[in-house]
Amino acid sequence: MIPTIHSKLPNVGTTIFTVMSALATEYKAVNLGQGFPDFPMSKELTDLVNKAMNDGFNQYSPMPGWMPLREAIAEKVQYLYHTAINPDTEITITPGGTYAIYSAFTTILQPGDEVIVFEPAYDSYIPNIEINGAKAVTINLVYPDYHIDWEAVRKAINTKTKAIIINSPHNPTGSVIGKKDIEELRKTVEGTNIFIISDEVYEHLIFDGIAHQSILRYPDLLQRSFVCFSFGKVYNCTGWKLGCCIAPPELTKEFRKVHQFNCFSCHTPTQVALSHFLKDKKAYQSLSGYMQGKRDYFTKLMQPTKFDMLESHGSYFICAKYDRISDENDKDFAIRLTKEAGVATIPVSAFYHNGKDDKVLRFCFSKKEETLEQAVEKLLKV
Ligand code: PMP
Ligand code: GLN
Repeated sequence: MIPTIHSKLPNVGTTIFTVMSALATEYKAVNLGQGFPDFPMSKELTDLVNKAMNDGFNQYSPMPGWMPLREAIAEKVQYLYHTAINPDTEITITPGGTYAIYSAFTTILQPGDEVIVFEPAYDSYIPNIEINGAKAVTINLVYPDYHIDWEAVRKAINTKTKAIIINSPHNPTGSVIGKKDIEELRKTVEGTNIFIISDEVYEHLIFDGIAHQSILRYPDLLQRSFVCFSFGKVYNCTGWKLGCCIAPPELTKEFRKVHQFNCFSCHTPTQVALSHFLKDKKAYQSLSGYMQGKRDYFTKLMQPTKFDMLESHGSYFICAKYDRISDENDKDFAIRLTKEAGVATIPVSAFYHNGKDDKVLRFCFSKKEETLEQAVEKLLKV
């Protein structure tokens, strides 16, 4: 007899990113769906990885991560956010941002706990919460600028609320939190036992001169936070799957208990390479301007189409309404757009547990100019 699995995630299927990328390949469509750059990453950084491998850095690194990389991160945090982080006790290198978030949830959640999640939400959050036996309490960001309704947050809080997860710059909408949101967050959690998980994987991809409101700037909030980052996202190497989690010592100690019996330690040569690369301030300071150029170029190209662009102030995504083109639901429309027009996107309803459909598609603009031009040439015919 073959044993059957009592599924821990009975309602989960294949992710929308996989579905749309497969469809893009099948129909030879331009893929502005799944979020990954189609241009080469820094040669300097790949050279540093090659050098690290050739220099023999090919064995396990320490469980919390390669120390020179943790030191370089701490230096960068001090420089950018004026907060002293102890690389020994507060930084853990992880195989990507998703893993850091998952491990943070696993560290704190007990069955029956509740976590406040803003929707549209990155697709891993709710399954991460549910696999730990906890419950996601969803609150909609306010359409069309997708800001947080803090009154709604305070109403949703009760004795079971264990954490709030925030994400700025935001996937899928490109909205960013401001100082006022930080004030509201502070007011909301003060005097409670609520943890904050801050997904900051798009830390350096923020536009229009806006300063990223990292939780790392606010020591009082950091005390209760797990702040998660992704090198893959910011350095255009999503396939590297390397990131980190910054949290105060007591939280990091528990986080590492989860981490050490999961992957234990991360890919060494890339950590060695990044420990050198992070010292170059220009390499991360130039990222916002570079990606903003792509946002602006794509927005300008899209102007003559029948899509109405929403605002994006960060990440590498921008959303657009299509109600002047069709009244189909966004999934059907995105599938038809891939098959018939030859452009793959992501329907934003996929980021809502109940499939809320505002007739909005997400476009990834982290692409070569020619890719964006090819896509828009097709979209102009729609
Ligand atoms: N959070 C958000 C909001 C993301 O868009 C991504 C990108 N996939 C991640 C986390 C995960 O990053 P990583 O690829 O490093 O796991
Ligand atoms: N973060 C990427 C996106 O939002 C994709 C990650 C994935 O495929 N899981 O498109």
